[in-house]
Amino acid sequence: MNAQQQLRQIPIQQEHVPGAQSVRSWRRFSQYFVMLLLVVIPVSGLFRIDPMAGAFHMLDYQVWFADMSIIMGFWIMAATLLIFMYSWAGSVFCGWICPQNTLSEWANWMTSKMLGRRALMMDITGQKMKVAARKNRWLNKVVLAFSFLAVAMLFAIIPLLYFFSPTVIWSFLTLQPLPEAQGLLWIYSVCILVVLIDVAVMRHLVCKYMCVYRIWQHSFKTRETLHIAYDESRSDHCTNCTYCEDSCFLDIDPRQTVVFDSCINCGDCVAACDTLHSKSKKMQGPGLLSFAFGQSKPGRNGLTSLLSRTRAAMVGAIIGGLWFSVGIINYQPYVLVADKAELLQGMTSNDYRINISNKRYRPADMELNIEGLDTSDYSLESNHVHWETAGRKDVIMHISPNLKQGIHRFTVHAKTSDGWHDDFTVYHYAQSAKQQGS
Ligand code: SF4
Ligand code: SF4
Repeated sequence: MNAQQQLRQIPIQQEHVPGAQSVRSWRRFSQYFVMLLLVVIPVSGLFRIDPMAGAFHMLDYQVWFADMSIIMGFWIMAATLLIFMYSWAGSVFCGWICPQNTLSEWANWMTSKMLGRRALMMDITGQKMKVAARKNRWLNKVVLAFSFLAVAMLFAIIPLLYFFSPTVIWSFLTLQPLPEAQGLLWIYSVCILVVLIDVAVMRHLVCKYMCVYRIWQHSFKTRETLHIAYDESRSDHCTNCTYCEDSCFLDIDPRQTVVFDSCINCGDCVAACDTLHSKSKKMQGPGLLSFAFGQSKPGRNGLTSLLSRTRAAMVGAIIGGLWFSVGIINYQPYVLVADKAELLQGMTSNDYRINISNKRYRPADMELNIEGLDTSDYSLESNHVHWETAGRKDVIMHISPNLKQGIHRFTVHAKTSDGWHDDFTVYHYAQSAKQQGS
């Protein structure tokens, strides 16, 4: 069998087993809850990205990419906690959290409703869909196409929410765009196209062939990781109906799972077999499939075994957490820096740029004072700075060319109306009039 024929054999499908509700209901709840969170997080201001400021927008505060303690501490903590999760529960992220999978499952469900189950037998060689005879109507195809477009238009808004404020997005959607919404139409159109291609064509092909994150999660699996177990002792209760296998969108036979297979612990096969057993009068007891942790080494219980496997991850999480906490404790809502302004257009070696930043998305006022120089020896563009929202501003300080030759130490004092204050000390070398002229 050549590669193309092998690829043809790969079914991209999800058959829905009627009544298989228990695990699946929890999984759906988790998937929809994550979708809701994806919207609530940026809309509530909990987290957005402000690329123009080179910062994250968190709860009305700017966290600059340069705020290393907060950024690195958080990522180390999050990454190690995720490693803990992969080691313990395998690739549950894919089945219970991943929005791409949620959308793909919805697209499969919608396709099977409108065109029949065999329409899910897509492959990547361009083989035609097999539409059920009784559903082969234009109306069904049009409804399916519009539902895909509607979902694409809806979900394409989510990434935008992470880069633009809800006010800007709303002004764009209500066709009364604010100046900040300029160019948003192009970005939105690209997002719609990407989501549309995903739900209409790609779906679980992305999971199977393109998702590097799935491989990353698999690399942490061990024999002790959560997996699907088949009760061999009751195998005579198995009718070989293949409901479990048909319910698996990754085309795994759950009766023969192995440690490093691509199972994502979605539990659909467990629900399928449970449902079958609960409806059958002949079959006794629960289904033959269940979630189980693998065998621990002798002398260790499951928890000890898990802790030993994830010790490094836990140490990383603690270090990351501490680093993050230090960053939060030392967070400065304003920043004051002063440096030579001679590289700026029209400036000389006697000019300094006092760069001040408000890192909060709210109005602020700051007073600037210079200590160490006589007022006749310098001029300050302004000693009061006002912000309407977060941002950076420059105040130019010009030092008199008549300042006596030598090194002069002066300090810039900054004080805000809410009590924050800071100093920045500068050493200025004043040249003689002759040196300045040369
Ligand atoms: S659904 Fe249950 S009974 Fe049917 S093949 Fe799978 S394990 Fe056997
Ligand atoms: S084997 Fe079962 S739990 Fe694993 S991916 Fe398939 S349906 Fe989900």
